[in-house]
Amino acid sequence: MSSLKQIISCTSDYDPDALPVARANEVIRSFVKPVSGVEKLPVRAALGRVLAKEVVSPINVPSHDNSAMDGYAIRNDDLGASEPVTLTEIGTAYAGREFTGEVRRGECVRVMTGAVMPRNTDTVIIQETVDVDGKRVSIPAGQEPGQNRRLAGEDLQKGKPALHAGRMLRPADIGLIASLGIGEVSVRRKLKVAFFSTGDELVSVGKKLKAGEVYDSNRYTLWGMLTRLGCEAIDLGVVRDDPEKLEGAFRKAASVADAVVTSGGVSVGEADFTKQMMAKLGEVVFWKIAMRPGRPMAFGRICSRGKSATLFGLPGNPVAVMVTFYHFVRGALLTMMGRSDTDLPLLCVKAETAMRKKPGRTEYQRGILELKNGEWSVRLTGAQGSGILRSMSEANCFVVLGHEQGAVRGGDYVEVMVMDGLV
Ligand code: AMP
Ligand code: MG
Repeated sequence: MSSLKQIISCTSDYDPDALPVARANEVIRSFVKPVSGVEKLPVRAALGRVLAKEVVSPINVPSHDNSAMDGYAIRNDDLGASEPVTLTEIGTAYAGREFTGEVRRGECVRVMTGAVMPRNTDTVIIQETVDVDGKRVSIPAGQEPGQNRRLAGEDLQKGKPALHAGRMLRPADIGLIASLGIGEVSVRRKLKVAFFSTGDELVSVGKKLKAGEVYDSNRYTLWGMLTRLGCEAIDLGVVRDDPEKLEGAFRKAASVADAVVTSGGVSVGEADFTKQMMAKLGEVVFWKIAMRPGRPMAFGRICSRGKSATLFGLPGNPVAVMVTFYHFVRGALLTMMGRSDTDLPLLCVKAETAMRKKPGRTEYQRGILELKNGEWSVRLTGAQGSGILRSMSEANCFVVLGHEQGAVRGGDYVEVMVMDGLV
């Protein structure tokens, strides 16, 4: 396992006091590794889990050539080049009930969607296009040989990988696994992530607020994000700004979890004692990231009683904690969970209004993506302060203004990341 020091020494333009988002993510991604540990689950229980081993198809899907439409199965050597033909219907094939006879030249079989193609036939004529007179079926010219027939194995081929390891199983995937007749799959074990909030001013829900106190909301947003990501979230509560208490909490987290996510205690005024304590517990770097919101952040590994956990020390401000989670922690945890795909698409849409922005930092403004006059466009949710959690709650996307980007004028195109799908 590479040390943080080694990874950082290979990172170009490394400045811990003005670190671009991409550089910080480079360091984080080189440092984290997937956890080992696999479990076998019934297919439905595996929904949302990460596939640990590729699924190889034991059969062809479909297993036989079959009809894609209701109509008449014919031999393509009966089709005239440009003139209509009339054939004799000799029977019917249903889905699940084969026509077992032989089809000779000049004959056809009525077929339903999903019916196995009768022997010698290879083409299906849609029922709406034919003229039927008793057993006489007249087929107009212009049919394509092989049309409206699904070939055996056209969906999945026997012996070939149907799904690769590293993918999160979605509804289509569990259906696909079922289509192979497989009832159980191997998935990675759940990632255990401990989390706690730090701050003398924090009060847990259920108690009365005194002057200067605030309710601890970060433990709720963090719990929500971790749970939606598919982690086992371990709540270690509120920890006071006291080096001994903090050390105890970090040791506990290292001994029970694969990763620990904390909020608060990494801003300039508070980082000093956290830094000293971290130096005792493991290898942790403190960054000021060129981004807004969410500048300060700690990252590394802490150890206790022979166990270790990857540490993400996030800022305390309620929006900053969510933004840093989505843009640094999410991808890292997905990698640890064994996911091979972690990037999310950015969409380009029209900005309804101007947006202030300075080059030299990445900004994640909170936006509302809406269909206006037939085109998708984005507007901001209002005040963008890093303490205004309402801006996250009202938003359905981040407006991602890149490192080099300057101010945006109304009508310019900007990149957005849709929040559905982030977790
Ligand atoms: P800090 O990063 O600890 O300096 O905190 C920055 C700001 O975020 C302060 O105004 C804190 O009161 C607020 N804050 C810190 N932790 C939380 C939390 N868990 N819930 C709500 N607000 C918090
Ligand atoms: Mg604090």
